Amino acid sequence: MRRLAVSGRSDVGLARRHNEDCYDVDTTHNLFLVADGMGGHSHGEVASSTAVREIRDYIGSYAPLDGGLSAADLLETAFREAHDRVLRKIREDRSLEGMGTTVVALLVRGDAAAVAHVGDSRLYRLREGELSLLTEDHTWVHEQMTAGFLSAAQARVHPLKNVVTRALGGEGRLQVDIQEVDVAPGDRFLLCSDGLTTVLLDEEIGRCLRHAPSPEDACHHLVRTTQRRSGPDDVTVVVLDVGPAS
Ligand code: CA
Repeated sequence: MRRLAVSGRSDVGLARRHNEDCYDVDTTHNLFLVADGMGGHSHGEVASSTAVREIRDYIGSYAPLDGGLSAADLLETAFREAHDRVLRKIREDRSLEGMGTTVVALLVRGDAAAVAHVGDSRLYRLREGELSLLTEDHTWVHEQMTAGFLSAAQARVHPLKNVVTRALGGEGRLQVDIQEVDVAPGDRFLLCSDGLTTVLLDEEIGRCLRHAPSPEDACHHLVRTTQRRSGPDDVTVVVLDVGPAS
């Protein structure tokens, strides 16, 4: 097992009344989650907290059984359970119709980690000073960029930049992106909601992650910088440092 140091922070955006983001740091199972809910009234909050709780509980209840499932399979099943749970809530209370949530999850096991995501919450890794984005946004503007119809600069300011094409609780069969990444001592991971990435450029995020002495400091700095720019949306960050084997 590698030694991990982790911190998380979430703040409500200037244009919001409720914080619709939710995160969890589970150091017992080395599971780290960020979710960004959507829906009218306070329903985004319900969606993101339901999904986070369901994924955490599923991994927590499965882990002691250790049935030999890979971390990737475990996460994918947990996402499907969470999706079903959000849909069940909507069926039980039709006023919740339209709620959904993004989720990005990192489940670390030794020298590897499984990453699962749906929507536009992201995972970055800082390794030897180089920042890499490890997830691909499930957004309309990202699809347009991939197809060559929009530049990155146009996508950043596009009026439809917030439209996600996949969400837990969304319509149709849930498609979860799953990947395995290696984990090395000295790596610093960042999970975040789009409240961070629509305000700060990747270069700025990288600079902050390179210079902050601890995960706690990095979280504080990222959120403060977003607030100073009057970030309108909720901002959530989880920063994880990978240490030597314990
Ligand atoms: Ca958001």
